[in-house]
Amino acid sequence: MGKLIHSNLGEVRPTKSRKEREEFGGGKQGVVLCPVCKAAYYKKSWHHDIAHFAGKEDVSVKFMLCPADQMIKNKQYEGRVVVKNVPKELEEEIAHLIKNVGFSAFEKEPMHRLISIEKVKGELVALTTENQLAVSMAKKIGSAHKKAKVKISFAKEPNDVAIAVVQF
Ligand SMILES: [Zn+2]
Repeated sequence: MGKLIHSNLGEVRPTKSRKEREEFGGGKQGVVLCPVCKAAYYKKSWHHDIAHFAGKEDVSVKFMLCPADQMIKNKQYEGRVVVKNVPKELEEEIAHLIKNVGFSAFEKEPMHRLISIEKVKGELVALTTENQLAVSMAKKIGSAHKKAKVKISFAKEPNDVAIAVVQF
């Protein structure tokens, strides 16, 4: 059985699968707005804004945390990048690279985000809301630095967390 979380609807249920999350809210006629990041859900996916509805009347608006912010609020993540043994002179560059990959993913898809990046006991640790995002961050570091070895693993339950380890 998966780990239980409290959804904002007050029910207790297992962590939602990716498919369920992406089909979030139904919202066929109206729009769901996230009060934290202002992302808008309509036409079965999340968008950066509600420009689509400009000039339209009678659009029903519902406020609800988007899955990415819900995940962050629950202190959950779907991807974790751990960069080990980073040479001191590369630290800043690697952090920058991770942020760049995170930013372009977010530009394309509002739910795909870099949650945090920090130095923990000499390792750079980045958390993401989406597992493939962690994988692409690690691969990007690997292709920029031949010395770095990339190892990807997946923890299946409860929600396909990807752990991408980059070893210098
Ligand atoms: Zn949000």
